[in-house]
Amino acid sequence: LIMTADLSKAAPTLSEYYSETKCTWCDGCGNYAIRTAVKMALVELSLHPWQVCLCYDIGCHGNASDKIQGYRFHGIHGRVIPFAAGVKLANMQLPVIAFGGDGATFSEGVGHLVHGVRSNYPITFILHNNADYGLTTGQASALTWQEQPMNWSPNGIPERTLASMELLFSLQPTFVARGFTGNIKLMTRILQAAIQHRGFAFVDMLQACPTYDHFATHTYLLERCYDANAEGHDPSNIQAAKALATQTDDRIACGILYQREDVPSFYERLVSRHDVATTCVEEVKRYDVSRYW
Ligand code: SF4
Repeated sequence: LIMTADLSKAAPTLSEYYSETKCTWCDGCGNYAIRTAVKMALVELSLHPWQVCLCYDIGCHGNASDKIQGYRFHGIHGRVIPFAAGVKLANMQLPVIAFGGDGATFSEGVGHLVHGVRSNYPITFILHNNADYGLTTGQASALTWQEQPMNWSPNGIPERTLASMELLFSLQPTFVARGFTGNIKLMTRILQAAIQHRGFAFVDMLQACPTYDHFATHTYLLERCYDANAEGHDPSNIQAAKALATQTDDRIACGILYQREDVPSFYERLVSRHDVATTCVEEVKRYDVSRYW
């Protein structure tokens, strides 16, 4: 993409994000709706494709990396958070959005999630939560229901299902939201707020995977998901947010569940320690390493 003065003045459009690369996702996959909501949120925020960096993990969702225009980075399994944080460090003005599946995020990359949230890296993280490993043909992930028969585990898995929101709230997050792929308007509203958040914005997108997830189906989600903000939920109340996030048996609360903007991001803290960093650099310069050569 080439940015010109004229183009940069024009308002962004959805068509700018269009990619001619053929989609290989299954019919009815929630990836389509999430990709649409991401585009709509970026356009609503007046961001052109060259003004954002989209970082993808491995998984079905990761194949979106060539199905949307923009600066894109497709990394290795479970590692999207560190390289998204690195992109942000290289250009602090650039909105950075990282995408990961529930398998990569809560198994291979769970350590990165833990430290990404507690560090409050100023990035948006979108969890494609379809409760399985779709790309590798439907194995159970850490978020698959324990008794659910899956490929390679027809009697269910021996491990207990990971309580993802309990884990998340133990890390003192500064932004937690939940959307589902049956409501693009709600996802778009959530994403606009997440992209503008000061620190690490965690967005749990409950996603239909009609090919392998035969339990949390599109119909299941449609019957249970609701907009908690429209029902008066106050996102500044962490106790209420945690209760809504973790109690999902009957109804599933969506919307912005928790948000606080008074916590500096990781890089803001670094800048505030600039004097310390400068002193360290000067110390290194004084140190004569040539004697080791
Ligand atoms: Fe989507 Fe599931 Fe098909 Fe992957 S396997 S493309 S997640 S429906």
